[in-house]
Amino acid sequence: MKRTLTVCPYCGTGCMLHLLSEGGRLIGVEPSSTHPISRGGLCIKGWNAFGFVHHPDRLTEPLVRKDGVLVPTGWQEALSMVVRGLQSVQARHGKDAIMFASSAKATNEENFLLMKLARRVFGTNNIDHCARLCHSSTVTGLAETFGSGAMTNSIDCIDRAKLIFVIGSNTTEQHPLIGSRIIRAVNKGAQLIVADNRRIRLSRHANLHLRHRNGSDVALLLAMMHVILAEGLEDREFIAARCENFEEFAAIARDWPPERAAAITGLGAEEVVAAARLYATSPAAMIFYSMGITQHSHGVDNVRAVAALAMLTGNIGRPGTGVNPLRGQNNVQGGCDMGVLPDLYSGYQKVSDPVVREKFRAAWGGGPLPETPGLPLTLAMNAASKGQIRAMFIMGENPIISDPDQSHAREALQSLELLVVQDIFLTETAQLADVVLPAACFAEKDGTFTNTERRIQLVQKGVEPPGEARADWQIICELARHAGSQVMNYEDTAQIMAEIASLTPAYGGVTHQRLAPYGLQWPCPSADHAGTPLLHTVQFSRGKGRFALIGYRQPAEMTDARFPYTLTTGRTYFHWHTGSMTRRTHLLHREEPKAFVEINPVDAAAIGVRNGGLVTVASRRGELTVAARVTGTVPEKVLFMPFHFMEGAANALTNNVLDPESHIPEFKVAAVSIRRGQ
Ligand code: SF4
Repeated sequence: MKRTLTVCPYCGTGCMLHLLSEGGRLIGVEPSSTHPISRGGLCIKGWNAFGFVHHPDRLTEPLVRKDGVLVPTGWQEALSMVVRGLQSVQARHGKDAIMFASSAKATNEENFLLMKLARRVFGTNNIDHCARLCHSSTVTGLAETFGSGAMTNSIDCIDRAKLIFVIGSNTTEQHPLIGSRIIRAVNKGAQLIVADNRRIRLSRHANLHLRHRNGSDVALLLAMMHVILAEGLEDREFIAARCENFEEFAAIARDWPPERAAAITGLGAEEVVAAARLYATSPAAMIFYSMGITQHSHGVDNVRAVAALAMLTGNIGRPGTGVNPLRGQNNVQGGCDMGVLPDLYSGYQKVSDPVVREKFRAAWGGGPLPETPGLPLTLAMNAASKGQIRAMFIMGENPIISDPDQSHAREALQSLELLVVQDIFLTETAQLADVVLPAACFAEKDGTFTNTERRIQLVQKGVEPPGEARADWQIICELARHAGSQVMNYEDTAQIMAEIASLTPAYGGVTHQRLAPYGLQWPCPSADHAGTPLLHTVQFSRGKGRFALIGYRQPAEMTDARFPYTLTTGRTYFHWHTGSMTRRTHLLHREEPKAFVEINPVDAAAIGVRNGGLVTVASRRGELTVAARVTGTVPEKVLFMPFHFMEGAANALTNNVLDPESHIPEFKVAAVSIRRGQ
């Protein structure tokens, strides 16, 4: 039996595991007993991470659409069709008529290369990835306040925290090993505040569970800060030495007594006072948040408020403190780091900065690079439906299920002249494509992923890809060569990392060799640097921490007589994202085989439905019929649906209104109605 140490392909926790293979086939996995996060454990998705790899649905050869049908072809024809198609669109409609969507499931090396392909070979900054849908609010909000949009502390810090404040994160389901670390810390004496209107597993362990209304986070956080200021619990010394813009911000917070916030949050003033005192008087308080904070039309303001709370109390830059956005997919941190963003090169270097552009231009063999920022993915979908984007290259993403307002996403993709999808399965999005390129999965390639705590870890090949499938990085290099470019000739992914390190200051000291066995946390600027577990210790990345000015804005869509329920969406423990891998994993599929909607028993009784009965949920965008899960997990008048299931796609209902700064959609709040289904 062969054992290959690699990284779990699911959540951003980044557990490492051994792939077990025999005769070229995976037969199981086992956790790494000495890895700092896994510590001999995995969640159920990790234990089953091999389950989809040899699935008969795997794509094994390129496909092209002929007479309306996808038929197998050779690599030469497929690659030529892609390059000719993209170039033809650009010749007729301009360089920016094409869009590249990269993948948080692909390696750093692959994301870097797709970024290079878009900018250097095709001359457009129209490149983005699914961080737009999950943590673009974090990137914008924390960059403004701290100067860096990443988790400030390390997962190990959980053991040092005296208080943990979890807001907008169902941690035990989405980041299970971090969730269990939190529970262990609580069992050893740490205090826990959970702010989430669902009764999630962590809330059972909490000293305080705040069930505030969806979309009222800014009001809650401002009210907590009001109490802290009113009771003199702020850290004056930290604020004076380390922060700026405090007085302007404090004037806003002073205007938010808990009684005012109560009308918006639905919480009693005493609950907010208790939370503020608990958090502010703790000697080391650590905040965790995730998409319950970011996926709002005011997601950036939510992040700014979280950052302000930490600065106000000096809870940053020390072990056991910090602002810790939990990154969703395995490599969404790396995707951002690698610059698959329309306005940034790798290392968050601005495309609009001529010095930065010159650095990349010189390294990439000369030739002009585009100067103006490109389109965020969400705006590119709108542009496609208006005919401004004519071709799209999508690597490893499935927007038909993951994007808000499914019919809008479908219409946008169907209106393209050319849709290319590079993936491991014929996903719902790939089924619409003109060309489908078969890719290798995580177990079949080398490279690196960067987890939520900025830990860059080695991904190692355990088995060969099926049939003609190739690693994403190899396909991208072939595309560059078909486009007549010689700037992407690499023998292996270690060479690509060498190029990343030479152009990306935070990765400057990273080599594949140095990453064995358990990686390095960035910033790691030089070959002799040991990595950085803790950010902002002496000063913030931007110098002084900035109290950004915020105001409360309600969600774009509020309930009314026609749509009297609030729908919120998310993931479940057994599935991942659009389910392309977990729904093809026998045990995970068996545990959670179909779509459902959570409904409070009072509401279920009102519409006359029992547990498991069918209900029809409708919004202004569409309607669908799924099974009801009657549970007190959700409060009255709130519904929850996971978004993994095509046959009950929650995103047929969600609102594609965007945060004006981060362009993230408001997945977490939509007004809906519900009735007994047939
Ligand atoms: Fe994989 Fe996340 Fe589970 Fe760890 S916690 S095994 S990284 S899915």
